[in-house]
Amino acid sequence: MTTTTTQTGLVGFLCEVTDQPVSFDQCLACARKGAPDCPMVPAAIHAAIHSIRDPQYAQKMAEEAGAKIGFSVTELLNCPRQTRLKMEVPFYEKPSAFYRMNRGTGYHHLLSRYDGGICEKTLTWKFIFRGRSILLVGTPDLVELTPDGWFITDYKVTSKPPFGKKVTLCARCEGETYEGDDGLTCRECGAILRSKSEILREYRPPQARSSHIMQVNLYALLIEKNAEKLAAMVGKSKPEKFAGAEVVYFGEKSPVRCPVKLDRDAAMTFLKRSLAALIADDLPPVLSDVDELWRCDYCPVRTICEQIHGGPVGKTQ
Ligand code: SF4
Ligand code: SF4
Repeated sequence: MTTTTTQTGLVGFLCEVTDQPVSFDQCLACARKGAPDCPMVPAAIHAAIHSIRDPQYAQKMAEEAGAKIGFSVTELLNCPRQTRLKMEVPFYEKPSAFYRMNRGTGYHHLLSRYDGGICEKTLTWKFIFRGRSILLVGTPDLVELTPDGWFITDYKVTSKPPFGKKVTLCARCEGETYEGDDGLTCRECGAILRSKSEILREYRPPQARSSHIMQVNLYALLIEKNAEKLAAMVGKSKPEKFAGAEVVYFGEKSPVRCPVKLDRDAAMTFLKRSLAALIADDLPPVLSDVDELWRCDYCPVRTICEQIHGGPVGKTQ
């Protein structure tokens, strides 16, 4: 009897020019020959190949720690269906996706040399969830122990940092508004706002993106579970609280600092919901939250997702 094993995970690149799958070596060889019409150069393809993260990274750490399943914070924050499909099927990704990701890695590396706190320390937490032993793995960019407790900072190098803006709010309940079919509508109380007296205008400073807020909150859980060890690293005793957190977006002109509220209950709720989806027997459903549909535009398993779903997903569904 012959047994056929199919490789899963990222198995090659999707050519920028032909949209056809190519092996990593074929792509590099093509780039070295000049790759007509392709924006990629050999060094960028080489960097892409060498930045592919081991898909079993968290799983291997889990096994070493005696846990059954391992997930990284990044895996928890992704679309759960995408995380599952990436583990279960072979897929290809364009080298330009790695280019986008790697452009910030160099500056991130420089930032990690700062010696005023605990930089890029990988933290783990082993626990039982629905009868399974799970290891959560995450690496906060910077953890500082201040007189008021832990302060977490996460860095994002991006060409599109968040910016402050004037927002229109409902004067009745101060809820946010959107342009509905019947006019300006309050998201909270559903009122249709027709006159100036029904509207408030307010300046909102730049806000961290929701997935980045949750990322920092998940790091807070990991810090809480490793507090004694981390405090010992800086020669202090374990604090009982957090001083705060922020996400710093490094845009092209200057950094944009966004304070983040730590909410332990929200982080635990998110953790349980994500884990439930990731370990369920069935594939998690397609994304339906309008604020999350952008993920489908960058999803390397979108074609497979749509085939299984039986129709388009994302903004076009
Ligand atoms: S170098 Fe460019 S054109 Fe050549 S295979 Fe890779 S992506 Fe395609
Ligand atoms: S296409 Fe969208 S819904 Fe499907 S796996 Fe990717 S991100 Fe998730």
